[in-house]
Amino acid sequence: MQTLSTLRAQFIAGEYTPTQAVAAALDVIKQKDRDINAFLAVYPEALAEAKLATAQYMEQGADTPPLLGMPIAVKNNILVKGKVATGASKILENYVAVYDATIVKRLKDAGAIIVGATNMDEFAMGGSTENSAFGITRNPYDLARVPGGSSGGSAAAVAMGAVPAAIGTDTGGSVRQPASFCGLVGFKPTYGAVSRYGLMAMGSSLDQAGPLTNSVADAELLHEVMQGVDPMDATTIAEDTYPNVPEKETYTFGVPRHFLQAGIDTDVLEAFDSHIESLKAAGHRVVDIDLPLFEKGLAAYYIVMPAEVSSNLARYDGIRYGLSAAGDNLLDVYEQSRSQGFGPEVKRRILLGTHVLSAGYFDAYYGKAELVRKKMRAELAETFKKVDIILTPTAPTPAFTIGEQEDSVAMYKQDIFTVPVNLTGVPALSFPMGSVERADKALPIGVQYIAPHGGDARLFSIGKKVYDERP
Ligand code: GLN
Repeated sequence: MQTLSTLRAQFIAGEYTPTQAVAAALDVIKQKDRDINAFLAVYPEALAEAKLATAQYMEQGADTPPLLGMPIAVKNNILVKGKVATGASKILENYVAVYDATIVKRLKDAGAIIVGATNMDEFAMGGSTENSAFGITRNPYDLARVPGGSSGGSAAAVAMGAVPAAIGTDTGGSVRQPASFCGLVGFKPTYGAVSRYGLMAMGSSLDQAGPLTNSVADAELLHEVMQGVDPMDATTIAEDTYPNVPEKETYTFGVPRHFLQAGIDTDVLEAFDSHIESLKAAGHRVVDIDLPLFEKGLAAYYIVMPAEVSSNLARYDGIRYGLSAAGDNLLDVYEQSRSQGFGPEVKRRILLGTHVLSAGYFDAYYGKAELVRKKMRAELAETFKKVDIILTPTAPTPAFTIGEQEDSVAMYKQDIFTVPVNLTGVPALSFPMGSVERADKALPIGVQYIAPHGGDARLFSIGKKVYDERP
């Protein structure tokens, strides 16, 4: 298991080089990705970049940018200049990005080497990476299972040992849930901490990019590089936007017990309870809390998100981007391009979103869901007067088998613990809390720590103590 911090130390000491690291990454991809399908594209020029980085370490040692020579994979809904950006959709199958997303530019400026683009659910809609137009991705812990989603390719790329870190996007859990299914650390920042410029928009009021890594310290490092105000995204926030969220020696954790009932795997609950015991043993306080509105999060999310999806995806019209199907007239071009270009889940959400925004139903659905969202924020603000961190499992189950979730609603229920975080805009960190046995395989499961707005640093500091420094 490789971490950025050990690689950095090895590169500086000259014990290992970026050239070796990138060559090893490309080799693992060649060996394993035929089965796993984590990558939609691999960038061979990474090797030439690695040679330059190796030379730079020889000359400058520790006096080099923090990510110099680190092989990193990026989800394919994030633009990398000159590279095909598909969003795992047929409609963008041949679309070449004309600029770098702000986060990609910042990663490159810090010396990172992008080795390839990772598979995902089409336009980030899903929780299993089964919705990709370019084949499913498999879980490296058990090839019969999904890696989670929608950033399943990024998670599998790290879990299979190809790269020490990958970038994903999280609209309703798409970094945290695959991290949980693949035994990784996954981080969803405070909304606005990270620029969305150059990310394919899914739900603009929910989307944030975040890292998938093998340690909390690595997640922190990548987040530090990517975060910060961006003139190209007016929703980015300065560090002092929210009141200071102090770091403490011991914390009060709140557990929404009423929320941990039907549909939650009993092994997950057991691991969660023993995680709570270990927190208590380390001197923290753990109390039960009531978050009645959090239970409405799933319903509100599946109205707000498709509404934003339906308007964001209107831009794929067969004229401006990607696939353009022939038609008898302009309307026919729109219809043909969108019918042929989008997969079933994307179409389902566009239909749903268009419905909830339509004149006759706006107040009944969209208006109400936004109201629930506002009240959830108030409920959370009250709760954070009493507790420092809210604790839940990241997902209700370990990785499920390919094809197991037969209908969309069953799949949507996977998101029960993650979507309230995006609806309210707070930060959350997922890291492994153990594993469960299924069919003779040990499958990882994750725990989720939720902090108040602007509490990203609190999550990193407690996460490093609990996870990175585990015995
Ligand atoms: N699984 C959730 C969904 O399908 C989350 C997706 C995401 O975060 N991109 O909407």
